[in-house]
Amino acid sequence: MERFSGKSVYKGITMGSVVLLDKADCQVKRGKTEDTDAEAARVRAAIEQAREQLGSLYDKAVKEVGEANAAIFEVHQMMLEDEDYLESIDNIIRTENVNAEYAVAITGDNFAEMFAGMDDDYMRARAADVKDISNRLVNNLYGHKEIDFSSMEPSIIVADDLTPSETVQMDKEKILAFVTVHGSTNSHTAILARMMNIPALVGVPVDLERIHNGMTAVVDGFSAEVIFEPTEEVCAKTQERIREEKEKNLLLQDMRGKETVTRGGREVKLYANIGCVSDVGYVLENDAAGIGLFRSEFLYLGRLDFPTEEEQFQAYRQVVQTMAGKKVIIRTLDIGADKQADYFNLGKEDNPAMGYRAIRICLKQPDIFKTQLRALLRASVYGNLSIMYPMIISTDEVRKIYGIVEEVRQELEEQGIPYTLPEQGIMIETPAAVMISDELAELVDFFSIGTNDLTQYTLAIDRQNERLDDFYNPHHKAMLKMIQMVVDNAHKCGKWAGICGELGADIDLTEEFVRMGVDELSVSPSMVLRIRKCIREIAF
Ligand code: PEP
Ligand code: MG
Repeated sequence: MERFSGKSVYKGITMGSVVLLDKADCQVKRGKTEDTDAEAARVRAAIEQAREQLGSLYDKAVKEVGEANAAIFEVHQMMLEDEDYLESIDNIIRTENVNAEYAVAITGDNFAEMFAGMDDDYMRARAADVKDISNRLVNNLYGHKEIDFSSMEPSIIVADDLTPSETVQMDKEKILAFVTVHGSTNSHTAILARMMNIPALVGVPVDLERIHNGMTAVVDGFSAEVIFEPTEEVCAKTQERIREEKEKNLLLQDMRGKETVTRGGREVKLYANIGCVSDVGYVLENDAAGIGLFRSEFLYLGRLDFPTEEEQFQAYRQVVQTMAGKKVIIRTLDIGADKQADYFNLGKEDNPAMGYRAIRICLKQPDIFKTQLRALLRASVYGNLSIMYPMIISTDEVRKIYGIVEEVRQELEEQGIPYTLPEQGIMIETPAAVMISDELAELVDFFSIGTNDLTQYTLAIDRQNERLDDFYNPHHKAMLKMIQMVVDNAHKCGKWAGICGELGADIDLTEEFVRMGVDELSVSPSMVLRIRKCIREIAF
């Protein structure tokens, strides 16, 4: 038995078998070789393996998303036959006497850069494909295995680190817990774990070389510990605690169907945050009164090309229809920083959290923005949809957004496509937006405070940097003063203000938020009933 401590992201307890997520995005090492023929042969074997993998991915995708969307895997198969690409790999191996992994990685980088610099949109988009192909080959060369979620039993995923796009692609039914060596408690991967309602630990100093698939582990999000190969006694105690937790959760079920209102009669709108269409199930299960934040960018992650207008329309329509008249606030894409999709070709930035992200991309590349807005205005016909814009820093940006929305509205009108113009609000997640919230309140229908980024930008602490977790303090006085200012400025204009960052689910502050006049809290679905219970006990 071995025990490791980390930082807990979600308080829950589970036990099960381990699946080690082996990834190739560890640094590819340059190695010297004399036997260049052998390295070239390894490349050929890796290509053969990739062909088979892509063939089965194509078959699976045809069944699940149709032939048109599956075609990308055929494109990848064709790329594996590209002579220039193959010659470049071979040439690097033979002229530099290096290992196959290095030659593939360098070729991938060179080709991706070349595609990214082309004028033609289609060719530019191929940069992400060539990177994907090269990663697949490097994975095969290193012997890393992809997890086959379809045949996997529900398991505990152990990994060095997880990106949001990896997390979002996982089959949630098959995951009991996450344990990662790296990662910050404020990252989007952590937020996804909370959303999925599963115990998760980050910053666990475990040597992955010693972990193997099929080991048993206990993940305890309360004590922030993972225990590999637990003794029989620990297993029995864990089973008992799992039972107790289930009972506590059952007691919370009493809160279903009740109003979210203090003992003194003050009502708070209690909504839930989601990242994809299937999360609506958690929202209904936990009886939230609406969706306060649909992180629409997750529709863009873990794929090889932009989601089309139709795909987005279907996703938004399904969510608003399922919510049957309850409010659904959809945030426009907040890509960038830690949420990366290669096909956006955002390029490397020294400071991505302060970089080209969210509304900045939408305003600079209005075609991407317009596709999403068209889908949103069309879906709005089917229910109670509101749009929310992220990372706003000026009134000018809001005016520009309204200009683009108006263009989209006119286009739909001219094309005779049914639409409605939804309510439009903004996220307050930059200190600039806080300081001009009086002016912004006049322009928009509502505010939702993104405390995750607001903490990052107010305290000058990168939320992704695990070494700064101890300094990242959303309870900082500056934060509480800012929240009060935003609420007051919203109310002066007759608008409402809520919180959709993780702080909204912090039970230590719930009473303070109510006293501050916060109108809405949007939290991960698993927190809804707990917060309702807390609010119903407040005397205010
Ligand atoms: C926030 O910043 O608080 C927020 C809700 O948005 P995200 O966490 O997705 O950046
Ligand atoms: Mg944010």
